[in-house]
Amino acid sequence: MTTIGFIGLGRMGLPMARNLAKAGHVVRAFDKASAAIDTAKEAGLPTVASAGHAADSAEVVITMLPAGHDTLAVYETAGVLKQARPGTLFIDCSTIDVVSARRAHALAATAGMRSLDAPVSGGVAGAEAGTLTFMIGGEEAAFAAARGVLEAMGKRIVHCGGPGAGQIAKMCNQMMVATNMAVIAEAFVLAEKLGLSHKALFEVVSTSSGGSWALSNYVPVPGLVATSAANHDFAPGFTTELMVKDLKIFQEAAREASSASPVGAVATALYELFLSAGNKGRDYSAIIEMIRGGRHG
Ligand code: NAD
Repeated sequence: MTTIGFIGLGRMGLPMARNLAKAGHVVRAFDKASAAIDTAKEAGLPTVASAGHAADSAEVVITMLPAGHDTLAVYETAGVLKQARPGTLFIDCSTIDVVSARRAHALAATAGMRSLDAPVSGGVAGAEAGTLTFMIGGEEAAFAAARGVLEAMGKRIVHCGGPGAGQIAKMCNQMMVATNMAVIAEAFVLAEKLGLSHKALFEVVSTSSGGSWALSNYVPVPGLVATSAANHDFAPGFTTELMVKDLKIFQEAAREASSASPVGAVATALYELFLSAGNKGRDYSAIIEMIRGGRHG
């Protein structure tokens, strides 16, 4: 049994924290939004009054926040690193840029803490079922110390390398799924226009060479796959703004490394356009509506 400060109780953080409590860990939960605190209380999680309080008696501090500046703000400005006991293990599960992730590791090390970057894939469904995939960056000893806690939230836990390595794997995954979703949308819209049913296209492609995770689990049309956001008018799931954030992280990293990313650049522009057309808060797979030229395009 481990005492865990959990900061960031959004769509992902709340079910992850619940799984930790279910596994017998002591969770001290905090979010800056009072609505998230209320939901956590309703879910039976013990909540605390500040991020610092989540950390002050914890052996492990987990953050699940939107972006790099949020993780750094919690580590620095909110005083979490100051209030934690030396040797506390910090695990940042947020998807953030590599520069911020490495800065977070450096801040933790300077404060005498151990740390990991540990972004996840598997979405809200994976967070609820405790079947997330964790991509870990950090020292081997910190990874070994984290394993028991991570196993309460995920099924597959991959140590990718040193500080920032988990975030490198994650941004690559995000660029691949975003571009994949856009091309699935293009194919389904053309099929509609030519009179081919969604069902027929899905049945063929899901077992053919054009198949993918996005198609089999998240196809952007209703009625084919239970886990698709299209079944409930694209309520997220994974918001378009988070996808744009992740695509920009990839583009920035590609620029810095002088690595070509022409397809990723087009996908970034496409999702940014979709976001600015009034689609904040909607699932990224709703991009099909813009391709179709419908009401949100
Ligand atoms: P979310 O917006 O639902 O939740 C983020 C939570 O962090 C919010 O409740 C917010 O109030 C809280 N927060 C922000 N700043 C804070 C601060 N300074 N102190 C305390 N709380 C603060 O986002 P989410 O969908 O849960 O995603 C979280 C992270 O996980 C993101 O980096 C995202 O890219 C990544 N992710 C999300 C999914 C998904 O399917 N939603 C899947 C994989 C990874």
